[in-house]
Amino acid sequence: MIHLPGVPAPLARVIEMLATLPGIGPKTAMRLGLNLLSRPASDSEHLAEALRILHEEVGFCETCGCFAEQGHCQFCTDVNRDATVICLVEQPVDVLMMERGHGYRGCYHVLRGRLSPVDGVGPEQLRLIALDKRVEQGISELILATSATVDGEATAHYLANRYQHQDVRISRISRGVPEGGELEYLDEHTLSRALDQRVSWDSTVM
Ligand SMILES: [Zn+2]
Repeated sequence: MIHLPGVPAPLARVIEMLATLPGIGPKTAMRLGLNLLSRPASDSEHLAEALRILHEEVGFCETCGCFAEQGHCQFCTDVNRDATVICLVEQPVDVLMMERGHGYRGCYHVLRGRLSPVDGVGPEQLRLIALDKRVEQGISELILATSATVDGEATAHYLANRYQHQDVRISRISRGVPEGGELEYLDEHTLSRALDQRVSWDSTVM
């Protein structure tokens, strides 16, 4: 609860909601709230409408788990992309980071997490059945782009083992990704390079 003496209750509610967003402290929230109030009412209505339909209209692709507006995402439905190359990432936001590099023309698969024994996340909590199906249907390459964290590496190992007897080339994004690195925090050039310089899984395991 933020202490807001003299602030009308409806404005205080907006300030409190804004202050729950990441990176926005009480002072910034106050400034944003006051700014909204100083602008035409229609600006707030447009913002409210955009927020109202956000969850209604943005869902997840049935095939790969990326963000999608309806049923399937823009990557799975793009005929110019190579559907036989799948880049495997932990979260939908990782796909957005990959796309900032502009070079990748394959498709994706989002796990929605990574193996984490400490947090009780096992293979059954990840979107693996869907991935099994895609691998079985026949793909040429699976690029493991899980994070360079301990759990991300463990997840990559698990997946390489899971699909080692399938007829698919397995690769890992290169060590351009710093240790402990979440993809979300990398700049697009580092990530593009890590993807371009990916190495065959067999050569990473000594
Ligand atoms: Zn998709």
